[in-house]
Parts: sequence; C-alpha cells; structure tokens
Amino acid sequence: MNNKKFYRKLKYLALMTAVVAVIVLVFSTLTDIPNTVFSNKESQQDDLPVIILDPGHGGIDGGCVAINGVPEKGINLAIASQVRDILSTMGYHVVMTRDKDVSIYDKGVKGVGNQKRSDMDNRLALINSYPNAVAVSIHQNQFTDPQYSGAQMFYSNTDPLSEELAQTMQKKFVANIQPDNNRETKEVGDELFLLYYSKCPMIMAECGFLSNPEESEKLQSDEYQRQVAFTIASGIVEFVENNYEVK
Ligand SMILES: [Zn+2]
Repeated sequence: MNNKKFYRKLKYLALMTAVVAVIVLVFSTLTDIPNTVFSNKESQQDDLPVIILDPGHGGIDGGCVAINGVPEKGINLAIASQVRDILSTMGYHVVMTRDKDVSIYDKGVKGVGNQKRSDMDNRLALINSYPNAVAVSIHQNQFTDPQYSGAQMFYSNTDPLSEELAQTMQKKFVANIQPDNNRETKEVGDELFLLYYSKCPMIMAECGFLSNPEESEKLQSDEYQRQVAFTIASGIVEFVENNYEVK
C-alpha cells in the first residue's frame, strides 16, 4: 500500500470509528433511563388510581439530619419502599419517584441549586404523567426545639381531594402509632412545589421529628419504619376506598 492509499484508509477508519462512537453514545443515552419507576401494572384494576410514592430528597440532597448524623433521605426511602410492597401486594399499581439513594436531576445539569430544581421538575413531571393518581411524598421533620414530635400532613388546595387525603392520613397516624399526636393538617401554597403543582390528590407526610431524640431513634428502627409504612398504606387505601369506585 502506498502512503497516499494508507492515509486514505486511515482517515476512513478514523471516520468510521467516530461514527460508531457517536451511535454508541446516542444509544446509551437513550437507553440509560433512570431506573426509578417500578410498577405492577399487570395486576392493576382499571378503576383504581395509580399510587405515586415520593421518598423525599436522595443523592446529593440528604434532607434534614438527625442528631446522630443520619439524614432523612434513607428513612424516607425505607418507609416508601415498604409502602410500595404493601400496596403492590394488594393489587395497586405503585410508582416510585426514586428507588435508591439518587437525586433524579437531568444529566449534565451543573451546580447543586440547578440539580435540586431539575430533580423537583422531574418528580413533578412523573407525578403529572399519570391522569388518575394519588401521590404521597414522604419526609421527616426537624425543628430547633427538640421537644416537638409527631407526624403532620401538608396539602395544597389545588386539588380539592388533597385535604381529605391529608385528614385521613393524619387520623391514621394517631389511631395506629401516635395516640398523643394532636397536630392539625396544614394547607400550604407554592412554597411546597410538588404539592402546589401536582394535578392529583397529593400530600406531604412528615412522619416525625428527627430533632426529637426519642422519635429520631424510633424513626431509624426497622420496626417503627414498618409501622409507619403500614400506617401510610392504610391511609391511602382508606382514602381510595372512600373516593373511587373500588370493585
Ligand atoms: Zn424532607
């Protein structure tokens, strides 16, 4: 092979390599969809709403932190995963905004502030992609004064049923695990982005205070997390049975 031919062949090879690389890159981007959506669609009864569980925070965003340094993100996920398992077993189609310790911001978004915004946008887009849904965002609370404890439900009146969901859930917490809890459900505005902009009945369940030593310890235990999960699941079921055609 003379030099000219050799270089032509080399150029051709380089071009083909570049083309293949681009194809591989595009394909991997397309197929690398975040593995955050789980469902048991096959067993879903048509008239039941899809249940969307949103374990608050994740990845770069730990949320509030217990006295012993444990962030709420893991507690939220542990509880939400158990709620998913309970409701899935009952035949509900359950969707989670995340199923592991990740923030679900778009690839390539730089800076923590932008990443958090992108993460929230993606959670909202997922929630609003289901025309018939009920959503519960799961969080833990924190306050400067360690004496405060107890779950509290937040809702926005942008969907008329959200208040009822909040009240049903608040009562379940009192009946099941927090008999001394006399907190009231609380209406919020657009400061709680997901609640305000979601198009389905939705609440934020603050399950307890990580700033309260006793409650913080309980919230970090498997047994209490199970109880909280059961409470949330039964609150959702009661709300659905009261408001939807359940066969
Ligand atoms: Zn939180």
